[in-house]
Amino acid sequence: MSGTYLGMPAFPAAAHEAVRDTTLRGNLRHATHTIRAKRARAVAEVEDWAQLREAGKRIKDHTLRHLDEYLVRLEESVTAAGGVVHWAADAEEANRIVTELVKATGEAEVVKVKSMATQEIGLNEALEAAGIRAYETDLAELIVQLGKDRPSHILVPAIHRNRGEIRDIFAREMGEWGRPAPDGLTDTPAELAEAARLHLREKFLRAKVGVSGANFMVAETGTLVVVESEGNGRMCLTLPETLISVVGIEKIVPTWRDLEVFLQTLPRSSTAERMNPYTSTWTGTTDEDGPRVFHLVLLDNGRTDTLADEVGRQALRCIRCSACLNVCPVYERAGGHAYGSVYPGPIGAILSPQLRGTGSDIDASLPYASSLCGACYEVCPVAIDIPEVLVHLRERVAQGGPVTREGNRVVLRPAKGHAAERAAMRAARWALSRPGALRAGQRVASRTRRLHPRTLPGPGRAWSGTRDLPPVPAEPFRDWWQRTHGGRKDAK
Ligand code: SF4
Repeated sequence: MSGTYLGMPAFPAAAHEAVRDTTLRGNLRHATHTIRAKRARAVAEVEDWAQLREAGKRIKDHTLRHLDEYLVRLEESVTAAGGVVHWAADAEEANRIVTELVKATGEAEVVKVKSMATQEIGLNEALEAAGIRAYETDLAELIVQLGKDRPSHILVPAIHRNRGEIRDIFAREMGEWGRPAPDGLTDTPAELAEAARLHLREKFLRAKVGVSGANFMVAETGTLVVVESEGNGRMCLTLPETLISVVGIEKIVPTWRDLEVFLQTLPRSSTAERMNPYTSTWTGTTDEDGPRVFHLVLLDNGRTDTLADEVGRQALRCIRCSACLNVCPVYERAGGHAYGSVYPGPIGAILSPQLRGTGSDIDASLPYASSLCGACYEVCPVAIDIPEVLVHLRERVAQGGPVTREGNRVVLRPAKGHAAERAAMRAARWALSRPGALRAGQRVASRTRRLHPRTLPGPGRAWSGTRDLPPVPAEPFRDWWQRTHGGRKDAK
């Protein structure tokens, strides 16, 4: 995944910093509460929401079960419509393919549609290393790019910024990237939007290459679909001569009939709209309309490994609506950056450790970045049981040891971070299988109870620092039973 996240501290350390930022918490609280209330109203309008949710789940499960067949069908359809399909096993290969395609056009800049897949692989950084400048055109992505920042939300990447901060970023940075912000820019939404419009317009009109992702790919016709609210995506998809789309292999749906379900559930779950203001679809190339050349880069990057896990594979149903982020009490307080990935919040906590493996501190900690309250599952429009996957991944981290990726292989390593816990379990097993030793140990513990420390030493200190250790009774239970019941087994 994106190199910008390499070396991130584990979630508890990153979250510890984030929760002390009162501006960030205020911004997040305001934004997530507003979006979640709107979503609840939009969903309540639909009488058959439960059936739509179930249909979305089944369509995705069916497609994932037959992914190999649908991908081949998609490739045939795209090729027949005049597009060129490329297969990328990992981020490095995808970046190399896109960089070579852009270089072949002779251009040194591209305009981008908001895309999680290209962020996942760190495409902007790879293009920059090759001397190609990528301009983000989604308003929130523009704010993130100009602010030399990282996205913190799937749908609203600049959710951690308020209007005043955005005004300052525009005034300070726009001139470095193109048309400067107007003099005297205020923080009113209309003025900020106008400044972005003017800044981006010259890029749309100049660009010869567009780069996008896609929300869906329809296998039967080879059609790609992008839904958005601003229309900037449509400009990138129609004006350039060359269009390159990088899409995760799980974004496929078999037919237009299947697509219909998601075009109902996605907008209500994400922006609380009844339908998306802009739904752009394109199928290969069309004479005298839109790009002359179309490339589709199909991205694996850990998805087939995820598919092999019976519990974890449900994460691939995700349609990136971000409803789970907006209801999550952990996300609301810690913010998106603490998750160390372009996929923050509950979905990030189950997706990143599967796509990247749990070999790093941040990825091994993500399955624990949840209270397991279940709010994410309740709102998910494709019924991903996120708590179930979190518990499953915790088990993998605790028992299987860190899981790392070596090339395309997922490697399980013996656990080494819980030596004290394993030693304690071994001691308990020894004592519990020897009644005489257990009785003697309990008597010693009772007689020396006034000498016992109130806090545990070493790594146990953090645990006992917030808990009261249970007092050791003056008389062990077995001795009390013997004394009061005379050893009778049936006493009540
Ligand atoms: S896991 Fe569900 S709720 Fe969360 S972003 Fe994906 S589809 Fe939306």
